[in-house]
Amino acid sequence: MGHGWEGAVLKLLRAKDFVFTVTGAEEVAERYRRLHFTDGGMLAMSGVHPTMWVRLWFDNAGKPHQRAYTLVDPDPEAGTFSLEFALHEGAASDWCRTAQPGDTIEGTLYGTAWTEPDPLPGRMFVVGDAAALPAINSLLEALPQVPATIWFETADSSEAELPFRTDPDRHDLRLVPREGRGERLVAEVRESLPGLVAEPERAYVWITAYGSTTRELTAFARKELGVPKQRVHSMAYWR
Ligand SMILES: Cc1cc2nc3c(=O)[nH]c(=O)nc-3n(C[C@H](O)[C@H](O)[C@H](O)COP(=O)(O)OP(=O)(O)OC[C@H]3O[C@@H](n4cnc5c(N)ncnc54)[C@H](O)[C@@H]3O)c2cc1C
Repeated sequence: MGHGWEGAVLKLLRAKDFVFTVTGAEEVAERYRRLHFTDGGMLAMSGVHPTMWVRLWFDNAGKPHQRAYTLVDPDPEAGTFSLEFALHEGAASDWCRTAQPGDTIEGTLYGTAWTEPDPLPGRMFVVGDAAALPAINSLLEALPQVPATIWFETADSSEAELPFRTDPDRHDLRLVPREGRGERLVAEVRESLPGLVAEPERAYVWITAYGSTTRELTAFARKELGVPKQRVHSMAYWR
């Protein structure tokens, strides 16, 4: 499958293309599926970093449809990783629902990066939902010494069973039912975050949620709480 103009731009930027092969699938929760892959040589070339993600090329009625997914347990020596898909409508979700061992998907590596906050924060503040769970788990594992408060927006009660890699001794996981376009999540974070941020310049805030939620809470952390730009990681994970 050609990758259209997005693929052409990525080529100019020297992005690297790979083919990943499905080796297994697990139904993790009602609308959450994990697929296992061989990496087509990617990880030996790229190395790995926490929260690393790839651009996958799905077919959407004959047109290339590029969507990002976060690597779960990448293993450069074995040349394997897994992906976890929050399932909803959409070409990526549809592909995942029926993917079986032997199926392949093309992937492009470009734009992923992670910098450890320096100095380490006393506590991390994390906002996301099922699409961000692989990234949140990876972030928590990358900084095991840092406690975290996590506001996790759930689409329904089945999402309480998602594979959170949290440790109750260090992680305060707050499940927030989705209301509207995330209004409740925004309101809860706005209400509780100010009382938790002792020193804004040393805080570390990670926001990877729905587009408008991400925008509003990023502006809140930066402008109203005064957290410096380099201490706020923010990226809309879906729209
Ligand atoms: C860096 C990065 C890493 C990501 N990692 C992961 C990951 O590991 N696992 C994962 O599941 N997702 C991840 N996402 C999110 C994923 O790329 C998007 O959800 C994507 O839109 C899914 O594509 P689709 O073809 O299924 O749906 P689309 O064609 O994009 O959208 C179809 C419809 O579904 C809705 N929709 C899209 N995403 C969601 C969602 N998450 N929840 C509810 N409704 C939705 C849209 O609003 C639209 O109405 C990541 C995104 C980024 C930017």
